[in-house]
Amino acid sequence: LRAEQVPDLPQPASPAFDPRAARRDFPILNQTVHGKPLIWLDNAATTQKPQAVIDRLARFYAEENSNIHRAAHALAARATDAYEEAREKARRFVGAADTDEIVFVRGATEAINLVAKAWGRQHIREGDEIVVTWLEHHANIVPWQQLCAETGARLRVVPVDEDGQIRLDEYARLLNPRTRLVSLTLVSNALGTVTPAAEMVAMARSAGAVTLVDGAQAVSHMPVNMQALGCDFFVLSGHKMFGPTGIGLLYGRREVLEGMQPWQGGGNMIADVTFEKTVYQPAPMRFEAGTGNIADAVGLGAAIDYLDRIGMPVIAAYEHSLLEYATAGLSTVPGLRLIGTAREKAGVLSFVLDGCRTEEVGRALDREGIAVRSGHHCAQPILRRFGVESTVRPSLAFYNTCEDLDALTAALHRIRHTLV
Ligand code: PLP
Repeated sequence: LRAEQVPDLPQPASPAFDPRAARRDFPILNQTVHGKPLIWLDNAATTQKPQAVIDRLARFYAEENSNIHRAAHALAARATDAYEEAREKARRFVGAADTDEIVFVRGATEAINLVAKAWGRQHIREGDEIVVTWLEHHANIVPWQQLCAETGARLRVVPVDEDGQIRLDEYARLLNPRTRLVSLTLVSNALGTVTPAAEMVAMARSAGAVTLVDGAQAVSHMPVNMQALGCDFFVLSGHKMFGPTGIGLLYGRREVLEGMQPWQGGGNMIADVTFEKTVYQPAPMRFEAGTGNIADAVGLGAAIDYLDRIGMPVIAAYEHSLLEYATAGLSTVPGLRLIGTAREKAGVLSFVLDGCRTEEVGRALDREGIAVRSGHHCAQPILRRFGVESTVRPSLAFYNTCEDLDALTAALHRIRHTLV
């Protein structure tokens, strides 16, 4: 089956947004792989970088590079300004009240570990309960398991229904006076489910629990706002939102962050040190020990500028129609079973193909120039919940087009014939 033979599908209508123009901003997408034009559908693993981000990184190193906050010279001032401007951009992007609520970290994993080690060790005791959901990435499971092992607390898990959506009734039953923390994802990286995070946060707060929302997979697909979400902590990774690797954010509500002890000690995070006693900086500096990832924070600021220019609501609307188009296309492939069929989904599709090993499907797609992930996606519990160890996972970004998805569908029709 060639692309043009795929049955008629509704075309996404998004007159205000031209994905082909957006795609031209991403130089890496303009290449062939195995002799075929590259189709990047592994956006849930990492996103590609627009020229504006690449240029900003180059400009930082060419004109501004210095360590920050310490030296009183021109380049230090430039680097510090650029770093703090990025913090302000990040504040606006997540709708936080104050820049002091934004901590630069390496990524979502480090942000969750920071909360587990700093807040967790201070507040979690034997017999306390920490609630996560079945949808979580390992990054939002393992740090809590480690904390439970250290403290004698108990990890409770909110189940999902057959579509891969949270069972709110079960969640309500799990909450109790021992619940200290609820940590949940906003978008599942394995199934694409968008969880009712704001409602779950409100329920947790009524139960007296602190909340963390893992936004790693959400922020490239939809607008987020800390005031609307109401959570105490929010985490994201720059590389999943068109920014550099090695940089991410921890948002912490001011009152919660201010009460937290640092998790790492060193330079930058202190106000005064004697051999007898160290006085720490206030947040966020007390959580940024040592020389941070200055250039990549600045690069993340450029990614935010880029996203602002398109507009997250525009991206969300376009991707919604793209997801519907992709789902309709995949449903034409005989023997293809979609895993994760919640009504509220972001641009992640997970499937198995009858009689084909997922790695083989991934390799066959790669030979066609189509990059998808096949494996367990660092979310083994949720895949096992659906009786599989791995899936093929195409995941979307705004630079993907209907033609990309036609190519995927057509390739799967062909692959099925050769592999089964
Ligand atoms: N949380 C979710 C939902 C994710 O999808 C990922 C990465 O795939 C992470 C956390 C961890 O992100 P990172 O590896 O960038 O720290």
